[in-house]
Amino acid sequence: MQQTTKKTLDAETNAASTEAVNVLSAFDFERARTALLRWFDANGRTFPWRSEPTPYRVWVSEIMLQQTTTQTVEGYFSRFLDRFPNATALAEADEATVLKYWEGLGYYRRARALRSAAIEIVERFGGDVPERFEDVLSLPGVGRYCAGAILSFGFDRRAPILEANTTRLHARLLGLRLETTTAAAQKILWRAAEDWLPLDSEKRRKPNVYRRLNGALTDLGRLVCSPTSPKCDACPLTDFCESWRRDYQDVVPVLKKKAETIPRTDVAFWIERRDLFDDGGNDGTRCGGSVCDVENPSDVLLIRRPENALWAGLWDFPRFEITNEAFRDALDFAADVELCDRLQRFLEEEVGAPPFDRRPGAVACTIKHAATRFKITLRFCRLAGASPILSSPKREKTLFDELGNDAAPQVSLLPSRRSKVAEKTRTPKTPEPERVAAEVRWVPLADLDAYPLSSPGRKLARFVLKNVG
Ligand code: SF4
Repeated sequence: MQQTTKKTLDAETNAASTEAVNVLSAFDFERARTALLRWFDANGRTFPWRSEPTPYRVWVSEIMLQQTTTQTVEGYFSRFLDRFPNATALAEADEATVLKYWEGLGYYRRARALRSAAIEIVERFGGDVPERFEDVLSLPGVGRYCAGAILSFGFDRRAPILEANTTRLHARLLGLRLETTTAAAQKILWRAAEDWLPLDSEKRRKPNVYRRLNGALTDLGRLVCSPTSPKCDACPLTDFCESWRRDYQDVVPVLKKKAETIPRTDVAFWIERRDLFDDGGNDGTRCGGSVCDVENPSDVLLIRRPENALWAGLWDFPRFEITNEAFRDALDFAADVELCDRLQRFLEEEVGAPPFDRRPGAVACTIKHAATRFKITLRFCRLAGASPILSSPKREKTLFDELGNDAAPQVSLLPSRRSKVAEKTRTPKTPEPERVAAEVRWVPLADLDAYPLSSPGRKLARFVLKNVG
C-alpha cells in the first residue's frame, strides 16, 4: 500500500517536472527579456547598494538582506559603510564593534560571518572581494544565492540567483506544481534563473545586462508577482506566464508547510550592584537602602550571551527561561522554585554575590517578540526588596509599537490582563536550561549605550532609563 502511494507520488512529481521543463524549453527569452527590462527601467527600485554597486557594498548589503527587509537594511547600510568602508576596515575591527553597528538588525551570526569573511578577503585575496564563483562561495556566510548576487550585481557577471521573490516568479511563469524546496523543483528553478541570462557573447552588446536582469526579476517578483493576489494586470510577462494562462496563480508556488512556533517565557532582571552587595548600610535595609556602603552602587549587571544561545555574543540583562510550564503565564515568579534556584546559583557562582535568599520582585513590563522559531514572552523585573523600576506600576501604556521579530519587539507596561498567577502545584517538565552567561560585567548606566545589546535588551535598557533615569 505504502509502495503504491510512493509510486503515485513519484509519477505526479515526474509529470509536474516534465510539464515545467517543457514550458521552460519553449520559453521565448529574447522577447521576455526586452519586456522585462523595459518594465524595470520604469519601475525598478533604487537602493544605495544599487546606485553604487561595488562588489564590497553589494556583498555587505546581501548579507544584511538575509532574513531582513530592504526597508530595515536601508536604515543601517550607510552607517555601517561609513564605519567600515572596505573589507580591510571590517577585518581590522574587533567583534564587539562590528556587533555594535549591527545592533537591531538581528541574526547576529551574519555579522560575525561578515567579519570572518572580511579577514579571509584580506588574507586570501588582498582585500578585494574575489570575482570567481568558487572563491565567493567559499567565504563564511555566503551561499549559492548570495554568491550569484555578489557576482551579478557587484561585477555584472553571468550568475543566476534564486531567492524568495525569484523563486515565486519563476515557479509561476513555468506553472510549476511542485513544492519549491524539493530537489526536482530546485533543479528546474535554477535552470530557469540561468536561462534568463544571455550567454557572455551576447552580453557584449548590452552592458550591465546581468545586473539589470537579476534586479528586474527580483523586483518584478517583489512588486508585481506578490505572494497573494499577484498584480497580473500590471505584469509585463503575462504573454509568457503559464500560471496566468492556466489560472494557477493561487496554487503556484506550492509552498512547504511552515514549522510551528514554540511559545516560551523568559524573565530578565535589572540588578544593580547595591542589590547584591549592600550589607544594609546604616539604615538596616538591603537592596537599595538610602544609605549604601557599596562602591558604584548603581552599576548594572550585564551578561554576554553564551554561544549557541539566541543573540550569542551580544550583551543583555541576566535572563532565564521559565522551564516550569505552570509559570508560563505568571506575573509573580517568587514561587518558581526552579527559577529561584537558578537565579541564586548564578548570582553566587558567576557574580560572586554573598549567599542570601534572592527572589524575583514584581514584574515591571512585558515584551513579546519572535526570534527564530520561538515566540517569546519576556517579563522584566528587579529582585524582591530592590526599589521597583516603576514608581506607579498600575499605569498601562505601550512604549514601543514595533511587533513581531528579532529586530522589533513589542513592549507594553505591565503584563496582559488575561494573564493569571499560575498555581504552584503542577509537576514541571524540565528541559535542560540554557547557560546564562559567557561573561558577566558591572556596567555604569552612562556606558549602557556603548554596549552591543540584544534588541530586547536595548528596549529594556531604554525602558528603565526612561522610568528611573
Ligand atoms: S502574469 Fe501574474 S502570475 Fe504571471 S508572472 Fe506576472 S504577476 Fe506573476
